[in-house]
Amino acid sequence: MLLVEDEPSVGELVRAYLTRDGYRVIWVRSGEEGIAELDRHPIRLVLLDIGLPGVDGFDVCRQMRARSEVPILMLTARDEEPDRIVGLEVGADDYITKPFSPRELVARMKAVLRRTEPQQRHDAFALGDVTLDRESHDVTVDGKPVDLTAKEFELLAFFMANAGVVVSRDLLLDRVWGQEYPGGTRTVDVHVAQLRRKLGRPELIRTLRGAGYKAVSS
Ligand code: CA
Repeated sequence: MLLVEDEPSVGELVRAYLTRDGYRVIWVRSGEEGIAELDRHPIRLVLLDIGLPGVDGFDVCRQMRARSEVPILMLTARDEEPDRIVGLEVGADDYITKPFSPRELVARMKAVLRRTEPQQRHDAFALGDVTLDRESHDVTVDGKPVDLTAKEFELLAFFMANAGVVVSRDLLLDRVWGQEYPGGTRTVDVHVAQLRRKLGRPELIRTLRGAGYKAVSS
């Protein structure tokens, strides 16, 4: 984690909590240093304060985005809508308003990582009472194993990695089926229907008219 924060009390609290939670944290006090550190280490996520001495957080975000896809979570002292919007416009993935509790911060970080790193994740997912383990290829509902085909498994894994996010049929075709499109988007609908039936959780994958699908926990 790269933490860019000039305020000692906030920086110390965040670093101590994240370190205790098992994250490695590089803490710098200015945007210039933040940009330099980004090139020096494999950074998984940037925690970026907006109010920095010298180059402000928005500019730092813009510059980081120009050179990297790294997830960026903005830390804003001001609970003002324009700040959040500007933050998202310059490429931040999310923001959290100060004062925040360390627990709240970690929850937000994990949500950003879940959204931005679905391909790198090889661990287990859980959504409601449905679990999926990529390593063992096991899927359970309420603790009971469910038998899925390879495509159904990949489809469910993609939904779970992108829980809460609207995914279009075209995106699913591209990510789950790759180049072979047997039957176009109709294929997606057929597989989703099959998946809902096998899981016995029809509400897990919602149909959004004209947009696609969204996996939700309840
Ligand atoms: Ca500050």
